Amino acid sequence: MAAGEGYVFPFPPRAPAPWCDANKVKGVCGKDKLRESGNTADAPLKLDKEIMTGGLASAPKKVDLLIVGAGLSGAVIAERCSKELGMTSLIIDNRDHIGGNVYDYVEDHGIRVSKYGAHLFHTKYERVWDYVTEFSEWMPYDHRVRGLVPDNDGVNRLVAIPPVQSTVNALLGENIQTEEEMQAWYDKQRVPFPGDEPANSEEAALSRVGPQLYEKIFKHYTKKQWDKYPAELDASVMLRLPCRTSTDERYFACDWQALPVRGYTRIFENMLLDDPNISLRLGVDYFKAREAGELPEYGMLVYTGPIDAYFVQQGMPKLEYRSLHFDEEFVPEPKCQDNEGYFQEAMVVNYPSPDVKFTRIVEYKHVPNQTEAVKEGKVKGSIIAREYSSAEGEPYYPVPNPENQALYEKYRALAEKEEGVCFVGRLASYKYFNMDQAILNALEIFDNLKETGKLAPKRRPEDFGPGDGPK
Ligand code: FAD
Ligand code: UDP
Repeated sequence: MAAGEGYVFPFPPRAPAPWCDANKVKGVCGKDKLRESGNTADAPLKLDKEIMTGGLASAPKKVDLLIVGAGLSGAVIAERCSKELGMTSLIIDNRDHIGGNVYDYVEDHGIRVSKYGAHLFHTKYERVWDYVTEFSEWMPYDHRVRGLVPDNDGVNRLVAIPPVQSTVNALLGENIQTEEEMQAWYDKQRVPFPGDEPANSEEAALSRVGPQLYEKIFKHYTKKQWDKYPAELDASVMLRLPCRTSTDERYFACDWQALPVRGYTRIFENMLLDDPNISLRLGVDYFKAREAGELPEYGMLVYTGPIDAYFVQQGMPKLEYRSLHFDEEFVPEPKCQDNEGYFQEAMVVNYPSPDVKFTRIVEYKHVPNQTEAVKEGKVKGSIIAREYSSAEGEPYYPVPNPENQALYEKYRALAEKEEGVCFVGRLASYKYFNMDQAILNALEIFDNLKETGKLAPKRRPEDFGPGDGPK
């Protein structure tokens, strides 16, 4: 299939049968308290002036918990501690919005976009699914990614990623029609790793897909994303992607896969805004406030920022993070194939080739949880975001390799000695947590508080497995 041939517009939110049936989310479900109370807005609520600019001067002077970070980790702990234990929290965040990296909003043309890149919710944890459906309505979504990849003749092909039968056929000129044939192809391709387990992401990829797909899809994408070749990264990075013999093109294999009907920010609004036990102050940096002696009296500190920033005075080397730059463009009259209104064939198109500097392009218009205006066809243009990875900028991804892990262990030792402080979340645990893992980790920390009186994780970050484990 040549690029784009045979595509349906907009990209269908559900995978073809039988794969869509594997998703336990069958239709719109969950509660949206704000919606039930008559709020029909698509965009995030305008927050009170006190929250936005009030700073700590107008905040409570004494709380049970001071929470640094209004992302998922901080929000879950504040919500649980309030609802179950009646504890008070003050959440501060140096950004000007709630939601952390999950924050989405409606931009000027009326399209819902994520400020920090595409976010697709998926989980195998029923507890997490039950929890998130308390704060939003959700709709089923089977995320499927495409990649623009040169075939053996150098012609760009739009193929399914992770690789499935059609990917191998299009890129490598095979004619695989069954799972058995795909299995036989893999058996010929795969390079077993020498030890008991793959020592790094190159060994992991070669043992799963063999050298040809490794070269075309994984090696250079990984170099662009991490500025490291897979051999320099833990196997866990590559193990995030599934490897299948079937025609299942879904990016994730989790039981529950869904999008929040009115965006992710709505979840935080429902969790935090109407709770008298929870106060919020945005635009407040923890370290600056601490230095200025402005912090309130608190029982415990919950810190969800980067762990090395907390211990900066120790003079240890900084941990390594990857950042992203989202090059957003509004395309007023997009046309993909003959389809007006869309720029590309799917929400996410990966560019694994080393000839293109960005890693992927996200087109938000494709998702089914768009605004009413988009769904009614009133928005002609489209917003796209090209993703470039860099070492500079806000820390997004911990970089998993043995050197960074060893350094993190030193920070963790300091963290364990720090009285009255709980280090939580993607940056404080230096762990590539997906949303559901961040939520589960925070729920388990809350369990510990209830059971033992101590806010502490129940399992170590690495016990959450590599990414999802094979997705
Ligand atoms: P964060 O969301 O990072 O929240 C931490 C907050 O602390 C931030 O708001 C920060 O501003 C604040 N903070 C830090 N330091 C300070 C300070 N000194 N003072 C005050 N505030 C401070 N997960 C999925 O499941 N599916 C996806 O598709 C997916 N896509 C992703 C795409 C990208 C590009 C990235 C980066 C992540 C993605 N994730 C995805 C992961 C998801 O974003 C995280 O699991 C989640 O955001 C973790 O929440 P958190 O609260 O631990 O951290
Ligand atoms: N990856 C790749 N080629 C792709 C997609 C992913 O090599 O087309 C590798 C890359 O190293 C990436 C990792 O698999 O960092 C995990 O991919 P995922 O899509 O989960 O990354 P995220 O969405 O977290 O950036």
